[in-house]
Amino acid sequence: MVSRPLLLRKEAGGGEPVRDYQLFLAWKNMTPVAGMVAVGTVLTALSVVAGWASVAPKYRRFRIRTSVSDTFGPYKFIRIALNGALSVGLYVVSIIAGDGILYHAGGTTILRVCAETLGVLLLYDCMYYFMHRALHVRILMKLIHGLHHRVRFAEAMDGLYVHPAEMIAGMALLFAAMAILGPVSTPSLLLVVFLHSVANIATHTNLVLPHPVFAIANFWAIRHDHHHASHRNANFASIFPVWDLMFRTYK
Ligand SMILES: [Zn+2]
Ligand SMILES: [Zn+2]
Repeated sequence: MVSRPLLLRKEAGGGEPVRDYQLFLAWKNMTPVAGMVAVGTVLTALSVVAGWASVAPKYRRFRIRTSVSDTFGPYKFIRIALNGALSVGLYVVSIIAGDGILYHAGGTTILRVCAETLGVLLLYDCMYYFMHRALHVRILMKLIHGLHHRVRFAEAMDGLYVHPAEMIAGMALLFAAMAILGPVSTPSLLLVVFLHSVANIATHTNLVLPHPVFAIANFWAIRHDHHHASHRNANFASIFPVWDLMFRTYK
């Protein structure tokens, strides 16, 4: 939020006050940009490690199913790279155009960040549940979602192996949840983006690692493996089991 004294100084014109105002605006705009760059860097590193672990012979014994791997041509990786670029582009647009709609630069508290993050992810996951169920209608499965279900033995980056329309629709739901409950604080925005991506990576690792720190990741991976393997009409939610439990599609 722009403080009144700065605005007054800007309206009054003059050398130093205008420079102060411009510096203020530059700082205000840089905070979410710098935060998003930091989150993007951590997520990229996490993707590389998870992508390696999900196919590494060293971790083969931890795979949920080990019989065979999917065989795809190079187009799979081109599609994953293009969708990765698309998601980065959409996040850049959300930072540029979302100030005051999706997020604000005002102060916040840890409790508020937790509440906003939980609220946005719950609402997003509820909307995603219904979108995912709709994508399993025969015509939409054939035109859009069937591409993702060509994956039978998931690997960490397969969350990006989707039709661009599904990619855009999924991110639109995330932004819609922020706009409905927001604008949220900048830390909440960054935490939502981070956790949403971590969930997307973890659900596709196809790994169950024997350490309590991976408990949630293991839970996501097992449930989503069911969805890819044999229970296509179950486990539609991507983060919280509550929606599948509520609508009796939990397996
Ligand atoms: Zn599906
Ligand atoms: Zn999947």
